[in-house]
Amino acid sequence: RRILTEKLDQYDIVSQLAASVSHEVRNPLTVTRGFLQLLRSGVPTERERQHYISLALDELDRAQDMITDYLSFAKQDPSNDHKTDFDVGAELEHITNVIRPYALIHSVLVETRLASACRVHGHPGKFRQCVINLCKNAIEAMPQGGALRVSMERDDRSNELLLTIQDEGVGMDGRQLERIGTAYATTKEKGTGLGLSVACRAVEEMGGRIRFRSAVGEGTTVFLHLPLHGERARKEEARAPAVVLEAA
Ligand code: ADP
Ligand code: MG
Repeated sequence: RRILTEKLDQYDIVSQLAASVSHEVRNPLTVTRGFLQLLRSGVPTERERQHYISLALDELDRAQDMITDYLSFAKQDPSNDHKTDFDVGAELEHITNVIRPYALIHSVLVETRLASACRVHGHPGKFRQCVINLCKNAIEAMPQGGALRVSMERDDRSNELLLTIQDEGVGMDGRQLERIGTAYATTKEKGTGLGLSVACRAVEEMGGRIRFRSAVGEGTTVFLHLPLHGERARKEEARAPAVVLEAA
């Protein structure tokens, strides 16, 4: 049952992201085509020629990066994800690249403030899936577009990494907040209602905590606390609830 719901949700995300990635990959291809046409029609100077060629190559690289990031997300199997040390900043960079095309087609700008050399012990694949689910919800909460802010900082006092995912979308009232993490609870026509249960479970498995703060019409902020030193921190935090809901 557990693996089934994880897989279901994974396929749902994979197909939605695929649609936006293929949409976004068309842009660099169109631009490159334009440059090739220009070159064929004869460009005045050698300098201009070189300029168009390097722009076309940049565009092709962009398309390739998008496809690579997407494929590495689509390929990962959540049921076969081992605990290991991973660099959270690098992982978030990767995740925001995967989510950016989806954001773009929803007129959402993704702003990131990432730290480097910050390592956490846990399941990188589950972490990725969790953050992608949270970002997807944030984007879908802004039907008129807006900003999605993803930032991270380390709290050396509590020995935690704090990851913040903030949107300026429709927000949730107290009753909606209470349903967070309940499987199949969705307000969306094509929603699965599984994204948050998968996300909350991933956080628990990594020994972390997740906090949702939301206000109707103002937006939602998700705070993700992850222990910087895996097992040890988890025992100390054992009493703190893994999921916290706050109506702002
Ligand atoms: P789905 O996205 O398929 O509906 P989720 O489990 O990801 O399923 O989310 C459950 C519900 O929680 C959503 O339908 C939505 O009503 C609400 N929700 C989640 N994240 C946000 C958010 N950032 N802003 C507003 N509502 C949200
Ligand atoms: Mg969702």
